[in-house]
This record gives sequence, structure tokens and C-alpha cells, in this order.
Amino acid sequence: MIDLRELYQDLILDHGKRPRNFGRPVANANRAARGHNPLCGDKLTITLRVDEEGVISDLAFDGAGCAISTASASLMTETLKGKSVAEALTIFEQFHHLVTDGECPDDVDLGSLEVFAGVKEFPVRVKCATLAWHTVVSALDVSQSTINSPDSAPTVSTE
Ligand code: ZN
Repeated sequence: MIDLRELYQDLILDHGKRPRNFGRPVANANRAARGHNPLCGDKLTITLRVDEEGVISDLAFDGAGCAISTASASLMTETLKGKSVAEALTIFEQFHHLVTDGECPDDVDLGSLEVFAGVKEFPVRVKCATLAWHTVVSALDVSQSTINSPDSAPTVSTE
């Protein structure tokens, strides 16, 4: 039998070492936000392009953080690409539920994001796993977001 816990750890290690959609801003980005987790030192910037239909057509992140925060941001970008803003906010709520109490509704399939279910055992790590998500939610909040300017984008602190 495959040890699921080991499999999940492998996925987190893989994305922590070789993050996807990393190290460059999105071309023609129209949303951006920065996140900071002072407890761990994780810092990241997320840029997105949301099209006229309200679909996230591209997103990427940059920054430096621990394996959990990097892997979470990497898997998040893969999950949210092609989703509508409304879908992204729903997935965030379910993901937050998963990492804080380890549960998600039976009819919801979070796919590879479910590797983070074990994080609930480590409350300090919850902030690492959710940093990218809080940051993307801030970027999607148009009233706070700065168009096409990651340098002056709002900063989210998980403290
Ligand atoms: Zn961290």
C-alpha cells in the first residue's frame, strides 16, 4: 500500500524545491499584492491577470519562504489558473477550512491541495500554508489592489 502521507510530503517537497509559475511577474498583470508572514519570515509577491469575464487567465508569484509557503503558493497558482474570481474565493474558503480543522465537505474535491490537510497538526505552519491565499484574496479585492504595480501593491501580514 502506498503511504499517502509520504506521497503528500513528496509533492510538497517537489513544489517547495521547484515552484511552478515562480520568479517572474505575469505579463500584462492587472492585480498584485504582497504577503508577509513575520512568524516564519515568508515573503511573496503575487501578480495576476484577470480578464474581462472575471477569469484568472494567468498568475505567478515571486519571493522567498519556507518549503510549505513556497509549495502552497506553487500549487495555488496551478489550481487558480483558469478559475473565475468567485470560484477562487470559494476554493480559498475550503482550503482555509482544510488546513485549520482538517475537514472539507464531501462534495468538494480540492485535488492536490489536500496534501496540506496535515498542516492542521502544526498551527505555526498554518500561516505558512495560507500566506499565498490571503495575498491572492487581497489582490482580487479591486478596491485595495494596485493595477500593474507590484512595488506599490498592498501588503498582507498574517500576524
Ligand atoms: Zn513559512
